Amino acid sequence: MTEERGPDYYARKRKMLEAEEKGESDEEEYVPYVSVKDRKRAVLQKHGNCLGMLMKQEMERPESSGNESDGEVNSELDDNRIAGVGRSLLDQHSELKKKEEESKETALEKQLKEEEKILESVAEKTALMGVAELAKGIEYTEPIKTGWRAPRYIQERSEEKHAKIREKHCIQTQGEDLPPICQTFQECKFPRSVIHALKKKDILKPSPIQMQGLPTVLSGRDLIGVAYTGSGKTMVFILPIIMFCLEQEKRLPFIANEGPYGMIIVPSRELARQIYEVLQYYCRSLDRDGHGRLRTSLCIGGVNVKEQMDVIRKGVHIVVCTPGRILDILNKKMMNMDMCRYVVFDEADRMIDMGFEEDVRTIFSFFKGQRQTLLFSATMPKKIQNFALSALVKPITVNVGRAGAASTNVKQIVEFVKPEARIVHILDCLQRTAPPVLIFAEKKRDVDAIHEYLLLKGVEAVATHGDKDQEDRSWAVDQFKSGKKDVLVATDVASKGLDFPGIQHVINFDMPEDIENYVHRIGRTGRSGAKGVSTTFVNQSCDETILLDLKHLLMEAKQFVPDFLRVLESDLTQFEDHGGQYFVLCIFLSYHESASTVGLLVSRLLLYVTVEAGCSYCGGLGHRIADCPKLEATTSKEARQIGRRDYLASGGADW
Ligand code: AMP
Repeated sequence: MTEERGPDYYARKRKMLEAEEKGESDEEEYVPYVSVKDRKRAVLQKHGNCLGMLMKQEMERPESSGNESDGEVNSELDDNRIAGVGRSLLDQHSELKKKEEESKETALEKQLKEEEKILESVAEKTALMGVAELAKGIEYTEPIKTGWRAPRYIQERSEEKHAKIREKHCIQTQGEDLPPICQTFQECKFPRSVIHALKKKDILKPSPIQMQGLPTVLSGRDLIGVAYTGSGKTMVFILPIIMFCLEQEKRLPFIANEGPYGMIIVPSRELARQIYEVLQYYCRSLDRDGHGRLRTSLCIGGVNVKEQMDVIRKGVHIVVCTPGRILDILNKKMMNMDMCRYVVFDEADRMIDMGFEEDVRTIFSFFKGQRQTLLFSATMPKKIQNFALSALVKPITVNVGRAGAASTNVKQIVEFVKPEARIVHILDCLQRTAPPVLIFAEKKRDVDAIHEYLLLKGVEAVATHGDKDQEDRSWAVDQFKSGKKDVLVATDVASKGLDFPGIQHVINFDMPEDIENYVHRIGRTGRSGAKGVSTTFVNQSCDETILLDLKHLLMEAKQFVPDFLRVLESDLTQFEDHGGQYFVLCIFLSYHESASTVGLLVSRLLLYVTVEAGCSYCGGLGHRIADCPKLEATTSKEARQIGRRDYLASGGADW
């Protein structure tokens, strides 16, 4: 059959001949155009791993999250058809559904939001204020002014230089108008007799918390001091209060019934006594050098109130107290807070944990004017920080190391010991180091049992716990402190802030119920730069969450992690893996993608990187706030108390 030879025929033929000359043929396969976007997607699909999934999720997020029109969807489907992807309607449907899913929040974002909500619900919202302040709506906005200034050459030092010094000593700070850092006690302008007294105690230059803390407090600023136990935080509040009181005494000496000017509130009697002794030491040396006599009082339970009142009646400058006793004195109007302008909470988180929250609130209600507030603790969960912020004016936070981290000077040993084998095993552990050794047990009856066993075995041991009377408690601590006894067996009353000289070994007969307590306990050794050892017995009855916290704490302090802890896996690894995926993805995409896509991914990555490690409630590294055993215990305790109150209020009690 002959073909009709129209003008098109010749044009087509010419084209064919030209193609033949070039060696091309009509049979060659037609290669359709594939858009750059689809080519990239195909490459990633080829890799077919979760990385690819994440990229797709990120690449398509802006399109799918917006109001995608039908036209856009269709043109994209057409593109895919041209690209030879050839998907069925079902494929397309599931693809669109997936896009919709992906445009929603990531699991991490969701979890963080939930955690924030939990924290919000437990955070303290009522401000710590005086009654008059609350009634009149008085709010202090500016810190108290003092006459102290750093030497001129320090003031003139550049901010970069200060920042470098802080970095060198691992000092982290937060807050406006940060006072400069002082690296010697002379720069803090302490009188010669204080510097001499410090030297006598082998304290030659300020520790990191003191370098930043002392100028901050001397400048009149409110402070949240977070530092590991034994880092010298006591000096940060003791020395400035002494200086302020001396200045006050020189200007207008205190008369009978006046004062106190400063108040130091701590959770345990033992700690109060220890701080009181340090305070007296510096006051005495200043008095000897003719700087003036300061009157101090120790107001704790178990001590005769009459003795305490004798000092208070003469006019007292500084009171060191526990919440219960001071509240009793204030309620009975035996003392007032009219002149108090300096208040310190040492081991503040312990105080709240031990149930003194309401007492602290009531103590605050007695204040009449603005005061400088200082809060110290080795651990500082967010709940307490929020609590603190309501009482503080433009506070400076000084943080040396992670809040709740264990001192790296302590070699931490964790052993699996069956409950019934523990007492006998203590004797083996005592061979590990020279005395003095501290043994902690959660229960009072365990303390008594260990004490009895050690006495039977001829060990020079003493014991203390809350059921013993104050005289016995003080005697035991004094005997141990003075080196007359080798071993002190105690409940956690002795774990908070107590400074026993040169403890070689801390033995934990049991694992405390929260990780902060563990940090406090082992912090009794390895103090002031010395080395120490801690041995902790764990067994099958220990809660897995606390063991996970312990595992992460050991890893953080670069300690040996025993196999029985190593095998424990927490959910947190998902966080780490996910963060890692985003990191790889960012690097990959920086070569292939637009700046906006990479920017979005980088912000996601930053989210992973900046997520606070561990639990934001108790600071444990092995779990998140949603699984916090301490929060659970606190909540159920509160619930029980509410139930009890309701029961009593309804007249259910048989009095
Ligand atoms: P803390 O309970 O954290 O105040 O630590 C107190 C212990 O550290 C006490 O034994 C002090 O004598 C000691 N200490 C305080 N400041 C220093 C310092 N700058 N240099 C060496 N030891 C210090």
